[in-house]
Amino acid sequence: MTDLYAVIGHPIGHSKSPLIHSAFAQSCGQDMAYTALEAPPTGFADAVRAFVASGGKGLNVTLPFKVQAFELATDPMESARLAGAANALKFEGERIWAQNFDGIGLVNDIQRNLGIPLQGLRVLICGAGGATRGALMPIADQQPDCLMVANRSADKAVGLQREFAGRATLQGGGYGELAGERFDVVINATSTGLSNEALPLPEDVFAPGALAYDMVYGKGLTPFLAQAKSAGVTRLADGVGMLVEQAAEAFTWWRGIRPDTRAVIDQLTVPLR
Ligand code: NDP
Repeated sequence: MTDLYAVIGHPIGHSKSPLIHSAFAQSCGQDMAYTALEAPPTGFADAVRAFVASGGKGLNVTLPFKVQAFELATDPMESARLAGAANALKFEGERIWAQNFDGIGLVNDIQRNLGIPLQGLRVLICGAGGATRGALMPIADQQPDCLMVANRSADKAVGLQREFAGRATLQGGGYGELAGERFDVVINATSTGLSNEALPLPEDVFAPGALAYDMVYGKGLTPFLAQAKSAGVTRLADGVGMLVEQAAEAFTWWRGIRPDTRAVIDQLTVPLR
């Protein structure tokens, strides 16, 4: 029988997940169907239960339900517990397993696809929201020389520093504290790629040969990437690889077989100009 999977969110029409997972299923010879489910903002848990009752095996979860997905889980895995949010669920009888693959998707994209090992590098993440929370431990596990979180509301970044103390050495603060600091990898994990705003970054925040990575995808040259380019950065990337790599992690978790990601990334890539 064909196994059922879906991505759930509100809205959901923009999601690339059905395309990505259908391509994975085809290339891995898996008998599965993957659709998009739109749940009303207050009806997440009911929509999940109805999906499970119809035979659903697993869900990807996107905005605004990642925290609710974590709260609904009977068995949150470490990645979801650390992020306080889940982006993938697996159903087995009464049990709901939860994972957060956003961070490992980011790390796999930077290290495997872009060929930049994070060990020993100076890494800056701009933003202190859900995407940053999910990324912190996977980045820290690669043993960068330094990991800094800068956020518009500096208190949130400082809060992350306190919360992750003992598990990861990271420094949190406002953009003003970046003066005189240089980083090998600068990641934009704010939503400014969606609102088309620039960040108050010092021009010399990018070390020679730095990577500028915007988590948003499909938007071409975002204000952040344009800032980096005008500061002389030549290694620019958006979050399309992160999106496909987190999907590959979920697929592997559900199906026990790892799909190749290159062709799907190429298919979804929008030129950065
Ligand atoms: P959140 O809403 O949780 O966090 C948003 C962050 O952006 C906050 O730190 C907020 O700062 C900051 N911010 C918003 N507006 C501004 C501004 N004008 N100037 C400076 N900072 C600003 O979002 P997420 O963490 O969930 O997502 C962040 C980005 O990552 C989005 O673009 C999302 O699309 C992308 N993403 C990509 C994924 C992928 O697979 N490629 C996966 C997950 C996310 P403050 O705290 O001060 O409000």
